[in-house]
Amino acid sequence: MSEDCVFCQIIDGDIPGRTVYEDDDVFAFLDANPLSRGHTLVIPKSHHERVSDLPAGDRAAVFEALGRLAPVVEAAVDADGVTVGMNDGEAAGQEVPHVHGHLVPRFDGDSAGPIHNIFRSTADLSDEELDEVAEDIKTAIGGA
Ligand code: AMP
Ligand code: ZN
Repeated sequence: MSEDCVFCQIIDGDIPGRTVYEDDDVFAFLDANPLSRGHTLVIPKSHHERVSDLPAGDRAAVFEALGRLAPVVEAAVDADGVTVGMNDGEAAGQEVPHVHGHLVPRFDGDSAGPIHNIFRSTADLSDEELDEVAEDIKTAIGGA
């Protein structure tokens, strides 16, 4: 629990939220500014800012809940698909510093497009640069 965290306060019932699911580890409620009908947030009950900060058990619980709830939310609002997404870090657009996964129901013809639409252009990397990036990431993973 973080005193000044809006999501911790929703979990504790100190500020109102439209709760749709709760278990020992995770909590799900409607987004107050929905991108589409049924837009739901899935959060760990413990306060952590980044996905990488989550203890393994919470990480597993959040992703398990996202996977389990996505088709349920989709069916509940009669949607045709779901965008499952996380803004991880301020640079990625994270506004609330408590890990949360977005379940955004998608409807045929809603014209929002794929998550790739966040970027107006692609990175345009040469084959050599891609090889280098892959090596850098592999090395980083090896040392993690
Ligand atoms: P993000 O940009 O990924 O940090 O998204 C934060 C999300 O939390 C936004 O979609 C907000 O609409 C939503 N949000 C912020 N405050 C509340 C609140 N009190 N109840 C429900 N959703 C909220
Ligand atoms: Zn919190």
